[in-house]
Amino acid sequence: HSKEQGRNRWYFFEQSMQHRILLRQQLEAEMQTALQQQQFKVYFQPKVDGSGKLTGYEALLRWQHPERGMISPDEFIPIAEQSGFIIELGHWVLMRACQALQQLSDSSLVIAINVSKRQLQTDDFVESTLAAVLSSGVPASQLEFEITESMLMTDVEHTRDKLEKLHRQGISFAVDDFGTGYSSLAFLKNLPIQVLKIDRSFVRDFLVDQKDYAIVDTIISMAKALNLTVVAEGVETVEQFNMLSQMRCDLFQGYLFGRPAADFAAPTLLQATEN
Ligand code: C2E
Ligand code: MG
Ligand code: MG
Ligand code: MG
Repeated sequence: HSKEQGRNRWYFFEQSMQHRILLRQQLEAEMQTALQQQQFKVYFQPKVDGSGKLTGYEALLRWQHPERGMISPDEFIPIAEQSGFIIELGHWVLMRACQALQQLSDSSLVIAINVSKRQLQTDDFVESTLAAVLSSGVPASQLEFEITESMLMTDVEHTRDKLEKLHRQGISFAVDDFGTGYSSLAFLKNLPIQVLKIDRSFVRDFLVDQKDYAIVDTIISMAKALNLTVVAEGVETVEQFNMLSQMRCDLFQGYLFGRPAADFAAPTLLQATEN
């Protein structure tokens, strides 16, 4: 009996694997046309400072699929990474970010884009990036590139060279999902990094989980000691915001201030709270 159950389970597992592989292949095949047909959208999520004032936006990709509905980047970015299509898609996001900066009259605002490993590894990443920024006419200092720890651990020499070239032109670099990767902290002293983004998974429960609290506190202290800007991702409640402010976090991003949206929505104003 149990042997049969096991066999059934394997059968279903195999079926769902095949389904996933098929879905992957279909999405991969559809991406190129999707970009031409403007099915990809860039959404913008506000970031604010301790007084709730807007400091900029993070650009976040969406795929508005005609049959499947809205597809999350967590689903299609890994596929685009593997196929190499991310290079074209990522460059398109950069151009959209530059357009967005042209539309925003406030020159103090910064737009952050997520750069993937495959993009950063292309030989002409620096040249194609600077060409796009230059032709858009926006100051490179209004652009921030979010990269992950693991990207800084591969091909270290080339990576440093690229980051330095772009940083010299004014682009700043943030380490996204900080604290979740396998990496040495040495990159913080060897690479032109200006911003640390505390991963949402630590922010979620830090008010009730002592370990998360300790991690958040440590990241903020380290950022301060290294003279880096520190951003908390996934801030959803006023209580989280108040405590993070007390802990001297610089910037905040999360549903409390606004979800990613197709337009440059002003951040939700913080209600005056009794402390
Ligand atoms: P990420 O860069 O860490 O982006 C933050 C994610 O957290 C976004 O998910 C955002 O919508 C979500 N988020 C923000 N505030 C809150 C909050 O208060 N609560 C909760 N529960 N979630 C919040 P999203 O937009 O689904 O993007 C997922 C990931 O996909 C991004 O993580 C990023 O790694 C990747 N991604 C998105 N756009 C691009 C892109 O243009 N290029 C590349 N290479 N990757 C991208
Ligand atoms: Mg990001
Ligand atoms: Mg993140
Ligand atoms: Mg993330």
